[in-house]
Amino acid sequence: MEFEQYKKYLKQAMDQIPEGAKQKERFIIPDVEIRPEGKNIIILNFSKIIQKINRDVKHFLPIFLKNIGTMGEDRGGQLFLKGRPKKDVLNRHINEYVNKYVLCKICNKPDTSISKEDKKLYLICQACGARTPIIE
Ligand SMILES: [Zn+2]
Repeated sequence: MEFEQYKKYLKQAMDQIPEGAKQKERFIIPDVEIRPEGKNIIILNFSKIIQKINRDVKHFLPIFLKNIGTMGEDRGGQLFLKGRPKKDVLNRHINEYVNKYVLCKICNKPDTSISKEDKKLYLICQACGARTPIIE
């Protein structure tokens, strides 16, 4: 087959793949950027992280704080945390949250939402249509 013809066939084949499936881009959460403040720290890029994981701060924050075992509050897009939790601990807990509450268990895409039915939480995936229970 001629190369040009091959390219044409390849393009035709690619055009038939739905837009969502073509995106091979990995879902990457930005690492926390922290600044010490006295005996405490502030996550400077908190709003960016929340935006990326596409969840309500009200849902994320209590779970996150409980898991790292400290108190904190959202101060206009920056997160004030009591104490000096380490960066890698913070990153790890953000990723744990994402694995549990954001990424689809079937296709691993982040295009999901949480739905509450009969006091149980489900992860609804817009990419593949899966509906999986969230085990808390
Ligand atoms: Zn899915």
